[in-house]
Amino acid sequence: MAPVIKLNSGYDMPQVGFGLWKVDNAVASDVVYNAIKAGYRLFDGACDYGNEVECGQGVARAISEGIVKREDLFIVSKLWNTFHDAERVEPIVKKQLADWGIEYFDLYLIHFPVALEWVDPAVRYPPGWHYDGKEEIRPSKATIQETWTALESLVSKGLSKSIGISNFQAQLIYDLLRYAKIRPATLQVEHHPYLVQQELINLAKREGIAVTAYSSFGPASFKEFNMKHADALAPLIEDETIKKIAAKHNRPASQVLLRWATQRGLAIIPKSTRPQIMAENFQSIDFDLSEEDIATISAFDRGIRFNQPSNYFPTELLWIFG
Ligand code: NAD
Repeated sequence: MAPVIKLNSGYDMPQVGFGLWKVDNAVASDVVYNAIKAGYRLFDGACDYGNEVECGQGVARAISEGIVKREDLFIVSKLWNTFHDAERVEPIVKKQLADWGIEYFDLYLIHFPVALEWVDPAVRYPPGWHYDGKEEIRPSKATIQETWTALESLVSKGLSKSIGISNFQAQLIYDLLRYAKIRPATLQVEHHPYLVQQELINLAKREGIAVTAYSSFGPASFKEFNMKHADALAPLIEDETIKKIAAKHNRPASQVLLRWATQRGLAIIPKSTRPQIMAENFQSIDFDLSEEDIATISAFDRGIRFNQPSNYFPTELLWIFG
């Protein structure tokens, strides 16, 4: 069994999970089913990924075949930006649960600290960033406090066991902790050797918030969006220094990148549709890097964040992200 991280909500979260972003609808059911067979128990979904129905079908198949029970799984989902207004939260969570075919989420996160105007799911689902599905960005007036309070009520209603945040930076976290009756159990952020975020991780640790790392391979996830700074950087798994450390441990470079994160105390959620890579990522926990290896990898830090909405929508969202 993979190791777990004890959350401040009292629940155990698997340290190695499976990400569901960009898993095609056509294969998502089989991918989730195969990942369960490969040993994964945590699945990191979201409204925005547009594949929760199919992911739920994979879960249902594994449960019906007796491979796992619901309580063996740790299913994570996220609140999309257009559902931040308090009265929109519970209805959309209930829709997402129905899509998955489950009664509760183990963890439900605010996906981004960005509130956009509600888009009726009957009109477009998932809604994406634009009000008209094309170019118009319409903010909503919901504050993070309003949205967080609505998430807290999900816990008392049994719709999610734990709640958390994603893509939040220090200032917003400090603010949220002033009014939170339930503290965030986890913070999910982009994290790779080009974005080490030591201070943010220290803050989370000090405040008892577990950190989940996403996009552990750095630019690899973002090349397809034609981001100049993703194209300019060599893939981390092909970097000579990372490859040298990998050769020393007789492991693939990918496992070195994942182990660097887990040895820093973070949870990881890599994704692959290929069974061999799926297994390789899952087994990235059974060897140890030296302190020196960890320091060498951490020294790659350049403070480069790829998953910043202004990278996708340079002109329209600059007013939000500065
Ligand atoms: P990833 O780590 O899953 O993978 C990036 C790329 O590397 C993919 O093309 C993948 O197929 C490939 N890959 C995976 N394992 C590999 C291996 N062992 N060797 C070589 N290539 C490999 O990156 P990601 O999709 O950016 O992030 C992982 C998960 O994190 C997502 O699926 C999603 O669940 C979550 N996520 C969350 C947010 C957020 O805003 N909260 C943003 C991005 C991702």
